[in-house]
Amino acid sequence: MLTYNEVTTFLHEFGHALHGMLSEVTYESQAGTSVYRDFVELPSQIMENWAQEKGWLEQVALHYQTGEAMPEALIEKIIEADKFQSGYLTVRQLSFGFNDMAWHSITEPIAISPGEFEKQAMARTELFPEVEGSSMSTAFGHIFDGGYAAGYYSYKWAEVLDADAYAAFKENGIFDKATAEKFRETILSKGGTRHPMELYIDFRGAEPSVEPLLVRSGLVK
Ligand SMILES: [Zn+2]
Repeated sequence: MLTYNEVTTFLHEFGHALHGMLSEVTYESQAGTSVYRDFVELPSQIMENWAQEKGWLEQVALHYQTGEAMPEALIEKIIEADKFQSGYLTVRQLSFGFNDMAWHSITEPIAISPGEFEKQAMARTELFPEVEGSSMSTAFGHIFDGGYAAGYYSYKWAEVLDADAYAAFKENGIFDKATAEKFRETILSKGGTRHPMELYIDFRGAEPSVEPLLVRSGLVK
């Protein structure tokens, strides 16, 4: 009786839980989710991908009275709905990352207004005309008191990682045991004992590519 949003949240948090439970390291300070911030959402976000899979939904999304599997048309809708406004949302997320990094890269006080500063920082990603007198920076709690200073990009980066990592399951099968064991061995069990990029390359054989995320977002074929 869970909503779709609750299902993806469950999968997400289950991924964090696995990262903790499957940890095999010596020191607590390097265990489980004690990794760099821009790596911590890979184990969680990758789990959400299964909620977009017909093969998975057919097994778990059963009618509570009849036990019938979710109709295929509904599954299609779920997958399509996930792409709604994805171009805009992608650019919006990037603009927040650019703005965050711009603020946290200044080396001396700025001589322009915060509104003008953010306008310049986000110029590359501006889609709509500016609303005169508005400034999102002054309400951007994440980067001034939320611990995401110079790290806001990690939301989008984690998507790059999870889409590219999940592509391994797409290639080998979404229930492929060998791929799952490799993910456990190279990423989940290692915590923060080695640099994330080294762990990632151990799993995937290469650095992550942005391509799988663009495909998943429906932005490229
Ligand atoms: Zn999370």
